[in-house]
Amino acid sequence: MRLSEYFLPVLRENPSEAQIASHRLMLRAGMIRQSSAGIYCWLPLGLRVLKNIERIVREEQDRAGAQEILMPTIQPAELWRESGRYDDYGKEMLRIRDRHDREMLYGPTNEEQVTEIVRASIKSYRDLPKLLYHIQWKFRDEVRPRFGVMRGREFLMKDAYSLDLDAAGAKRSYNKMFAAYLRTFVRMGLKAIPMRADPGPIGGDLSHEFIILADAGESDVFFDRRWQEIDIPLIEVDYQDDLEPIFQRWTASYAATDEKHNPASCPIPETELISARGLEVGHIFYFGDKYSRPMQALVSRPDGAPVPLQMGSYGIGVSRLPGALIEANHDENGIIWPESVAPFRAGLINLRASDMRCRAAADDLYGKLRNAGIEVLYDDRDESPGAKFATMDLIGLPEQIVVGPRGLAAGTVEVKNRRSGVREDMTTDAALSRLSAA
Ligand code: ATP
Ligand code: MG
Repeated sequence: MRLSEYFLPVLRENPSEAQIASHRLMLRAGMIRQSSAGIYCWLPLGLRVLKNIERIVREEQDRAGAQEILMPTIQPAELWRESGRYDDYGKEMLRIRDRHDREMLYGPTNEEQVTEIVRASIKSYRDLPKLLYHIQWKFRDEVRPRFGVMRGREFLMKDAYSLDLDAAGAKRSYNKMFAAYLRTFVRMGLKAIPMRADPGPIGGDLSHEFIILADAGESDVFFDRRWQEIDIPLIEVDYQDDLEPIFQRWTASYAATDEKHNPASCPIPETELISARGLEVGHIFYFGDKYSRPMQALVSRPDGAPVPLQMGSYGIGVSRLPGALIEANHDENGIIWPESVAPFRAGLINLRASDMRCRAAADDLYGKLRNAGIEVLYDDRDESPGAKFATMDLIGLPEQIVVGPRGLAAGTVEVKNRRSGVREDMTTDAALSRLSAA
C-alpha cells in the first residue's frame, strides 16, 4: 500500500480526551475514531490489526474443535425473560422497540440465544459434546466507557458456548478452551495469566480470567511472585487428549482476581504474593444448567432420562485486544506491534521522493516485496525524512526499510527493527530475504 494513497489520518498532537497510552496512540496513529461515547469507527490501519487478532482467535477456536456460527446483534426480549435476566441486567442493556412495539435488545452476551438454538435440535447425549462460537459486536451501556476501545459500549467479542451431558464432560470442554486461550494469547505475543475469577452475574462455580499485567488495567489481581519469571510457551495441544494436566500445570501457581482473592485463606504466604493491576482479555466459565434449566434445554441420557444441558461460556475481548496489546508494546515514539498482529509486516521509506533514482529504487523494492507476499506500507510521499520516521515509529510496523541517496550509492538500504531499534545496512536482496524469512 502506498502511503500517498492510504487513508491514515495521524494526529500530531496528543488528543486531550485520552488518559492512557493505548487510547492516545490508537487515536494518533489513525486507527480509530470516536463516534459517540464508547463507540468507535475502525479506520484502515486499526481494522487490519483487529482482523489479525480475529484471525488468530478464530484459528485457535477451530483448532480446539469449536464451530463458528453467527448470531444476531438484536435479540428478542422474550428469550431474556425466560432466563430471568431481562430484569436483572439493568441499565447496561440497550432496550429497543421495533415498529410493532415488540421489545428487542442489543445483545450484551448470547447465552440465551445459543440455548434457544440448541434446545430446538440437540435432544440426545449422542448429539454431545458441542462447542459453538461466534465473533460478534456486543453492546453494554457501561456507566463509564473509557480508555478507548478497552472499555467501550459497543465492542467485538468472541464468545463460545460448550454443551455437554454432565459435569465431567463440561470440564473437558472447559479444559479445551483453557488450552486454546493459552495458545491464542501467546500467538499474539501476550503473557495472559489465567487467574481464578468470579463468574459474576452470569453465575456458576468454575471460572478463570486471562489477565495481562498493566498499570492501565482496571482489575486488582494477586499472584504468586513466581509468575514474574514464568514464560508461557506456545504449547502443542492434541485436543483428543485428556487436557487436565495442562489445566493443572497452568493453574499450579496462585493467581486470583480481587473478587476471588481472600487474604485469610490465600494458600501462599504474604511474602510470596504480588498485587498488581491487570487487564482482562478473556474470561471462561462453567455455569452448569443456569440457562438450560429455566429455558428447558433438555437432552436424554443413555438411560433415557431427560436432563438439562451442562453449559459453559468463553469470552475474548477482540476489540479490547488492540488496546491491551499497545499497553504491553509501546515506547515514547509510538506503538511496537508484535509481528503476528502487525497491520503491515514492514514500512518502506523513500527518503527523497523527489529524486528520480531514489524513487525508481524504492518503487522497484516495493514491487519485489509485494511479489514476495510481504505486506508493506510504502511511504512514497514528498515529506521530510523526520516526518516520515516519526510516522513509521508511531504506527509501529515491525521493520522499516529506508531507501536513501547515500545507501543507493553504496548499493544498500537500511533496515531498522522497530522493537530493538537496531539499524543495519544491507543489499535489497538481503532485506528481502530477511523479511521473507519471518
Ligand atoms: P469487565 O469486567 O472488564 O467489565 P466482563 O467481565 O463484564 O468485563 P465478560 O462478560 O467476561 O466481561 O466478557 C468477555 C470479554 O469481553 C472480557 O474478558 C473483556 O475482554 C471483553 N469486554 C467486556 N466488556 C468490555 C467492554 N466494555 N469493552 C471492551 N471489551 C469488553
Ligand atoms: Mg469477565
